[in-house]
Amino acid sequence: MNNEYLYNSNLRKVKIGEDIIGDNNPMIIAGPCTFGSYKELESIARELKKIGIKYFRAGAFKPRTSPYSFQGLRDKGMEMLFRIQKKYDLKIVVELTTIEQVRKYGNSVDIIQIGMRNMYNYELLKECGNLQTPVILKRNMAASYNEWLLAAEYILKGGNHNVILCERGIRTNNPSETRNVLDLQAIPYIKKHSSLPIIIDPSHASGHSYMVESMSRAAIAANVDGLIIETHINPKESLCDSEQTIDINQLKNIIKFKEEFIKYED
Ligand code: PEP
Ligand code: MN
Repeated sequence: MNNEYLYNSNLRKVKIGEDIIGDNNPMIIAGPCTFGSYKELESIARELKKIGIKYFRAGAFKPRTSPYSFQGLRDKGMEMLFRIQKKYDLKIVVELTTIEQVRKYGNSVDIIQIGMRNMYNYELLKECGNLQTPVILKRNMAASYNEWLLAAEYILKGGNHNVILCERGIRTNNPSETRNVLDLQAIPYIKKHSSLPIIIDPSHASGHSYMVESMSRAAIAANVDGLIIETHINPKESLCDSEQTIDINQLKNIIKFKEEFIKYED
């Protein structure tokens, strides 16, 4: 096997503007799973900006388990996200699901998210390899570490070295009460065996907002490079994944823990 990029330690850090991902200050990405209007999107973005969030997530193309579920505002949603990006000077993290979307929007979003369903979509990964835009590569719920790292390799091999890995819960013999099981062991494993930063998504891992704070603290304590957290000003109103979505106050607690942890580590 020839994964020549994974073991190059110079690649461990990803630069986004003045931020260096993988540099002992975990990045926090927050925002709704998806949104149904500009008003809703803006009301969340405004509150997140107020508490110092720089990276705003929100899905316009939603890969839903059921074709009858809300699929996102799609191209209209992208226009809204670009308005928010400009108006609030927020970096936008957006899932792109097709080669066409990557060609159309890949250079304008700040971070491309590749969802867990597309981790095995090698043609899509190759397309991301043609850009320099940072890519968050989510681990498929059934993927081994090696499959995940080789999926990353598709992007790296194309010449895009700005890859951030994201563990978002795996399917095991999980109790029916939780959506997935958060594999925290991925953090030390990836740090030992690859050169890429790793972030954790405690929202999709657990499926429950009450678990998100403690799992975020655990990931920070395990030296994670970042967190991506579904957040809404009114989680109950969230069009998608409302059960696992936290509110602004819960997010503030996580940020506070992170700040204290960084100080303690110094
Ligand atoms: C999401 O981030 O909203 C999402 C769909 O994530 P995943 O691909 O991990 O299921
Ligand atoms: Mn979601």
